[in-house]
Amino acid sequence: MTVHESVVDAIGGTPLFRLARLGAGLAAPVYAKAEFLNIGGSVKDRAALSMVLAAERDGLLRPGGTIIEATSGNTGIGLTIVGRRRGYRVIACVSDRSAAEKSDILRAYGAEVVLAPTAVPAEDPDHLFNVVRRLAEEIPGAWLADQYDNPANPDAHVRTTGPEIWEQTGGRVTHFVAGVGTGGTISGTGAYLKKVSGGGVTVIGADPESSSYAGGDGSPYFVESIGHFLHPGTAEDRWPKSYHREVVDGFERIPDRESLLTARRLAREEGLLAGPSSGTAVAAALRVARRLGPEDLVVVLLPDSGRSYLSKLYSDDWLRRWGFLEEPRGADDTEPTVRAVLDAAGGWSGAGAPGAGGSGAGESGAGGPVTVASDASLAEALAVLRTAPGGIAPVVLARAVRPYGISATEVLGSLSAAAVQRALAEGRAAPDGPVTSVLGPALATVGVGQPLSEAREAFGPGQDAALVLADGRAVALVHRSALGS
Ligand code: PMP
Repeated sequence: MTVHESVVDAIGGTPLFRLARLGAGLAAPVYAKAEFLNIGGSVKDRAALSMVLAAERDGLLRPGGTIIEATSGNTGIGLTIVGRRRGYRVIACVSDRSAAEKSDILRAYGAEVVLAPTAVPAEDPDHLFNVVRRLAEEIPGAWLADQYDNPANPDAHVRTTGPEIWEQTGGRVTHFVAGVGTGGTISGTGAYLKKVSGGGVTVIGADPESSSYAGGDGSPYFVESIGHFLHPGTAEDRWPKSYHREVVDGFERIPDRESLLTARRLAREEGLLAGPSSGTAVAAALRVARRLGPEDLVVVLLPDSGRSYLSKLYSDDWLRRWGFLEEPRGADDTEPTVRAVLDAAGGWSGAGAPGAGGSGAGESGAGGPVTVASDASLAEALAVLRTAPGGIAPVVLARAVRPYGISATEVLGSLSAAAVQRALAEGRAAPDGPVTSVLGPALATVGVGQPLSEAREAFGPGQDAALVLADGRAVALVHRSALGS
């Protein structure tokens, strides 16, 4: 037993667990590196310590200084623990898409938290990255950790994570699987394992299906902290310098539902309560292991704990509302769900299937709702609305016309034929004017697996239609009357 002089000395050295249940029947063993057992609860403790030490060494961070970072939470926690212990002020700018629990933890450790919107283009002054840059310029003695471009981030994994895995597996590891956020973990760990094995280790990235790292369209997904998301208004895309793409031999592209349900299995069947990005990584590792033999050994990295996501991925209600869960609530639950209503009306082609729900201005996609693009004119919109049942349709971000369907987070509001005609007749709008001038309120949303009684409660006053969500994507539009009373 060891006594540590400081929590900082306890970072790293995490255990490896064989996934005996999830990997049952597979020839190749799958070992999970439990990074949530780090002192701050995530793999990012390693990068935080490495970046702070490098900044001190390089004279960028001096006594009395302030550490600033744009962080989904975990890097902020690591920087706060390390930074406060070493006497610095810490400011963490957190995306408003991040789980609320993460900000609470940051404050508990003594960070100042600034929330910044994610739903703005990279060029917007309010964008997370611009907010931190401004703060770093304004505050004397401030140092921006910049995990996305800081070489000390991947280097932490060259020096610690990689060697630990090599030693723990006695040099038998043949495949390493991890998600890619900043890319620090996969680049550093992967580079070390390749070098020490003389090129014998294959490195696989686990990417959310629509993330652009592995070739997706960059449209939104639900798994936090990994993948590359592109706001439709962003002009120039740029990948982080912490991500060394030459280290990654291939990708597994994992749909949100598979990620979330795999994380839940990890908790229930293996006793490993991990976050959604761990679900993505394990789902990818299982796919990889299925192709391998007994001489292979897969190591998958679990970045953080599930405790920060109890109100999301570990909440049945949350999963059902977003259309990720369809099982009945119990053995005696026989109430029909929204899916039964859709099936009775002719069904739709199935969530998650490429092509499902994808529809542009004027077309109704394969089973998806008719949509109006936000850059359409009112005249164009009217033509579209004539084909929409009930004359109502969601207005979606112009670039959100994609093979994976419309993400619920890209819906700006609704448009009804009646409202457009009224505005034109009263001279409040012109036919060549933008749809945004007559934009109606948000549509209600219901999950495809929600029982009808629960789905009916989703309608607010004046809301007559709802988007049906499957895997977080809009697959149909239902009218209140179709859900019974
Ligand atoms: N999962 C979680 C939960 C994370 O916080 C992060 C870091 N943003 C990652 C995965 C990705 O790690 P990396 O930044 O090293 O690629």
